[in-house]
Amino acid sequence: MPKTIVLTGAGGVLCSTLAAALATHGHNIAVLDLRKEAADAVADEIKANGGKAVGIAGNVLEKDSLETAKKEINNAYGKVDILINGAGGNHPMGTTSNPFFQMEDLKNTTDGFKTFFDLDPKGIEFTFNLNFLGTLLPTQVFAKDMVGRDGCSILNISSMNAFTPLTKIPAYSGAKAAVSNFTQWLAVHFSKVGIRVNAIAPGFFLTDQNRALLTNSDGSATPRGEQIIGQTPMGRYGKPEDLVSTVEWLCDDAASFITGIVVPIDGGFSAYSGV
Ligand code: NAD
Repeated sequence: MPKTIVLTGAGGVLCSTLAAALATHGHNIAVLDLRKEAADAVADEIKANGGKAVGIAGNVLEKDSLETAKKEINNAYGKVDILINGAGGNHPMGTTSNPFFQMEDLKNTTDGFKTFFDLDPKGIEFTFNLNFLGTLLPTQVFAKDMVGRDGCSILNISSMNAFTPLTKIPAYSGAKAAVSNFTQWLAVHFSKVGIRVNAIAPGFFLTDQNRALLTNSDGSATPRGEQIIGQTPMGRYGKPEDLVSTVEWLCDDAASFITGIVVPIDGGFSAYSGV
C-alpha cells in the first residue's frame, strides 16, 4: 500500500537517492530540505520519472518550520507514515587538524591549524544540534501522525563513527553515537503505539561533504582516503544506491517485528580490526 514518506535532508546526495528509489514503489514522497531549490529539483526529477513527490522547505532545527512543513504535507498527501531523518553532517570548527595530539602541535602557528584545545564550542554545538536535535525535532512533529496507526516507522541515519569514533571529528562522532542511542531509546518508547524505529549506519560514501578530505584535486586519494579504503575490506567507497535495499526493507511492513536496530552498510569496515 502506498505510504506518505518524509525525508529530511533529501536535497542532499544520499537521501535524494533514497527518495527516488522509494518513489518507484508508488509512495508519496515529501522531499524536505533547508534548501528549497534542492528539494524542488529532487521532487521534479521524481515526478518526471512518473513518481509522486513534493519539494518542501524546512529547517530540522526549528519546530515552527517543521509544523508548517507538516501542514503542507498533510494537505498534499494526508497523514505521514514514515519519517527518514537524513539531515546531518559535520562542521570544520569541530574538527582537529591532526589525528593524534603531539607535543610539537603546541608550537604550530600555521594559519587554520587546530588542536583539540582550539576546537570552537560553536562548531561542536552546530554538529550536535544538526545531527541529534535535527533528528529529535522532526520526530516530535511528524511522529504525531503515526501514533496508534499500523505500518508506521522512523529511520535515522547514524554513521560508522557511532560504533568507534573516527579521528579528528569528536563532535560528529559523539553526535552520531547519540543518534544511535536515541534510535534504541525511541524504539522502546514507541513500542506500544505501533511505531518502529531503526537506523542505518553508512560507511564511507564519497560525497560533496567529504570529497576534499578524501581526494586530491587530481582525483587521487588523500592519505585519509587511502586509510579508509585500506580499512574497508571490500576496497571501495559506498555508492548511494548501496543504501537502498536496506532502507526499503526497514521501512516495509515485512520488517514489522524489527525495531531498535542500527544496520551498518559499510563494505565490512566495522567488522575489520585492521589486522
Ligand atoms: P548532504 O550534505 O549531501 O545532504 C545533507 C542535506 O541536509 C543537504 O541537502 C542540506 O541542505 C540539508 N540540511 C542541512 N541542514 C539542514 C537543516 N537544518 N534542515 C533541513 N535540512 C538541512 O549529506 P549526505 O552525504 O547525503 O548525508 C546524509 C546523511 O547521511 C547525514 O545525516 C550524514 O551525516 C549521513 N552520513 C553520510 C555519510 C557519507 O559518507 N556521506 C556517511 C555516514 C552518514
